[in-house]
Amino acid sequence: MEFRQAQRMQGLTSAIFTEVDNLRKEQVAAGKDIITLSIGSPDLAPAGHIIEALQQGVGNRNNYGYTLSKGIPAFSNAVSNWYKSHFDVDLDAQTEVYSLIGSQDGLAHIALCLVNPGDVVLVPDPGYPIFSAGPLMAGAELYRMPLTAANHYLPDLSAISEAVLKRAKMMIINYPNNPLAATAPREFFEQVVAFAKRYNILVCHDFAYSELVFDGYRPDSFLSIPGAKEVAIEFHSLSKTYNMAGCRAGMVVGNKEVIALLGKVKSNFDYGIFQPIQQAAVAALTGPQDCVRETALTYQRRRDIIVNGLNQMGWQVNRPQASMYVWAPVPTQQSSFDFVVDLLKHAGVALIPGSGFGQFGEGFVRIALVQPEDRLSEAVHRIESWLGKL
Ligand SMILES: *Cc1c(COP(=O)(O)O)cnc(C)c1O
Repeated sequence: MEFRQAQRMQGLTSAIFTEVDNLRKEQVAAGKDIITLSIGSPDLAPAGHIIEALQQGVGNRNNYGYTLSKGIPAFSNAVSNWYKSHFDVDLDAQTEVYSLIGSQDGLAHIALCLVNPGDVVLVPDPGYPIFSAGPLMAGAELYRMPLTAANHYLPDLSAISEAVLKRAKMMIINYPNNPLAATAPREFFEQVVAFAKRYNILVCHDFAYSELVFDGYRPDSFLSIPGAKEVAIEFHSLSKTYNMAGCRAGMVVGNKEVIALLGKVKSNFDYGIFQPIQQAAVAALTGPQDCVRETALTYQRRRDIIVNGLNQMGWQVNRPQASMYVWAPVPTQQSSFDFVVDLLKHAGVALIPGSGFGQFGEGFVRIALVQPEDRLSEAVHRIESWLGKL
């Protein structure tokens, strides 16, 4: 038997991530101590009251049925209230909130609702891989919007031709951004709302890092822009805010027609999130929020260790206001991939090459702040002594 992969599988090019991770595993298997700053999975644990809610839910015999994909009412209500208190955005829990099996679920499937083969989806480059993979699986053509320092890591809307815009159905943006750790000013969101109305494009804003913010910075929800609900949905997640990445709990909020379409797709694909996880999510969203401040402060201290450490050795990097990443220019004359491989082999520090996030990521590496402070200091020390030998 010979199995040939379907053409749509060509959209799934996680080759660079897999290759780097295989090299990392080889080093670990060989007994090397590797400091893993590559994958973006939080190393912190949820607060006690969240774990207790999950434990209680698991102990309840009535919690083992299908929940159906919309989410239990307590979850939708909790999301609606959380959005009001955090971003002053009003959401109808019935029609403008839908649960997701992690925001990845929604990001992967949204294009199926709106995109016909050959339609264009505007995606950021560099960008989180599912932003491209989801639309490609739906048969979309991608238009990659370069995010560069020269444009303050914002897409240049005026650079997109009318011919492309006529065929564009969707645009994906993400602030605070992964991998760039960039933020967007409110004025940019206002421009995007006007742009989306003019060209009849759905805006999908990924807001996963709204709470991992530093030095008093507070980002705006895209939906807080007047008129945004007519043109936009926003994806959010409990993965980063509450350290619940493995639980797979997220939500999409905003335009109710689009949410109904996504709900239709999802009700065919899945039967919802395990009820105890939804109850834990409700406990997270409605409970005390000091755990979130502590998490953000933890990442802020880690950011400073990496940024101060790299800057002191002459590797100039920006100090981000949000996210759990530092985006750093490759300090040698190598490609980002070759640099990452050498750093792994010779210094025992694993990063992600920027080229894994798109062609405009070349020349940079992403450093994920997912290790405790002493390990980050050790990483700085190792990088410095290896770079010093070059
Ligand atoms: C981590 C992350 C998410 C969260 O994904 P989940 O599926 O909710 O765990 C979403 N978007 C970006 C850009 C991320 O980095």
